[in-house]
Amino acid sequence: MAAGYKRIATEEAWAPAELLDTYRAMAAKKSIDDPGFIALWSRLGARGQLSERLADIGERRIADMDSSGIDLQILSLTSPGVQVFDAATATSLAASTNDQVAEAVRKYPTRFAALGAVAPQDPAAAAREAERAVRKLGLKGIIINSHTRGEFLDDPKFWEIFEAAEALQAPIYIHPQAPPPQMSAPYVEKGLEGALWGFAAETGLHLLAILRSGALDRFPGLRIVVGHAGEALPFWLYRLDYMNKTARPGIRNGADRLQRTLSEYMRENVYVTTSGMAWAPVITFVQSVLGMDRVLYAMDYPYQFEPDEVTTTDNLPISDADKTKLFQTNAERVFRL
Ligand code: MN
Repeated sequence: MAAGYKRIATEEAWAPAELLDTYRAMAAKKSIDDPGFIALWSRLGARGQLSERLADIGERRIADMDSSGIDLQILSLTSPGVQVFDAATATSLAASTNDQVAEAVRKYPTRFAALGAVAPQDPAAAAREAERAVRKLGLKGIIINSHTRGEFLDDPKFWEIFEAAEALQAPIYIHPQAPPPQMSAPYVEKGLEGALWGFAAETGLHLLAILRSGALDRFPGLRIVVGHAGEALPFWLYRLDYMNKTARPGIRNGADRLQRTLSEYMRENVYVTTSGMAWAPVITFVQSVLGMDRVLYAMDYPYQFEPDEVTTTDNLPISDADKTKLFQTNAERVFRL
């Protein structure tokens, strides 16, 4: 704690080596009808050192944390997680990866905490796995790698998961994925299906759809976390509120019947992390728009393992008390560490 606060990184990716091999094989054989996934994993799968870092939830990762001043990582199953599989495969993969990551947390309790994966392909099973992950394994929330085979959580058929998360007081981290087949063509064509804009377009859409679905009126205690400084929604907030007032009745999910404004949902149910966005103007902007208590530090290891970015964040033009919120106490509160 040389900085005077603990640095907790909240969007830190891992995956078993076999799962990464599976993604690589799916992309190579084109055995999945998902051009965004194929394009993304054709590139990522070739990055050997990235795969090694993703697969290590032990000493090598801890050495990287030490070299960059990270005290604690909150681990989550990397994108696309279980979202790309059939219901049975996804459900069993969620359970087995949750067991594995819980074991790493047991071994290194001062360095790791973790989120549990659930498979929306089977919402009832996902709700049960959320409960097992939190109550039995001691995991600190739920990771959903955004769309599940082209479907988004604004669809009420998935709301058993929201109900379980609210009851467990477990935040749901919605992490980006490549845009789904129904929107992927121009992104893939232009090489933008990944973290260079495609992720933000996909996950910003997902979050906005949830905000407009009425889910947060039905589950007012639900906490949603997104990375990348809010996937652009904070920047858009004024216009989102303005245009949502004129939303026409009869659209899906009846955004005309919402009890709160979109910015109220953002400020009352959503937390954002700084993953991939170690840039003072953006971090201080989201703090000013959403509040100091709603912005959490994240590195996005190992995809954006840049020790200099920790220094950038340490040097933000905010008070030490606010840096302590950003790096430490907001994460402790949101994830009940
Ligand atoms: Mn990430």
